Amino acid sequence: MTLTTHATLGAVIGHAVGNPVWAFILGFISHFAIDMVPHGDTGLADNYKIHKVNRKRAVAYVVIDGIIALFFVLILANTRDIASMNTFSWGIVGSVLPDLIIGVYEITKTPLLEWFNKLHFFFHDFFVKRKGDVPLYYALLAQIVLIAYLQTKL
Ligand SMILES: [Zn+2]
Repeated sequence: MTLTTHATLGAVIGHAVGNPVWAFILGFISHFAIDMVPHGDTGLADNYKIHKVNRKRAVAYVVIDGIIALFFVLILANTRDIASMNTFSWGIVGSVLPDLIIGVYEITKTPLLEWFNKLHFFFHDFFVKRKGDVPLYYALLAQIVLIAYLQTKL
């Protein structure tokens, strides 16, 4: 999923549980759960990791994704009367942290994070490996709809 989707879900979870520790833990778990829904990025990831073509496109996608997520979180924080900025923040941190760890693994290839990489992609590829992926364009539209819905819960 896009980081904006993960972050918005994390913010809503933080808002709902009202406790920073649980916001972080449940935000973290939510990452794996929602990543299981096929979301169109398999082609980008395979091109980057396996075929090693169009790698700049994958990097650009990740950079744009991260900056949009940052902007969106700032918009939420500055336009909403967030009851607890603490739980809001920890929900977001937990929900996006798995992809930060994956990024660190991707750059360093450290054996310390290999297990986490496997765990992440076990969930991420769970249905994609069995049923195939969906077109990225539709997946992004679906995520916009989901984000539009989720932000009403803040
Ligand atoms: Zn992920």
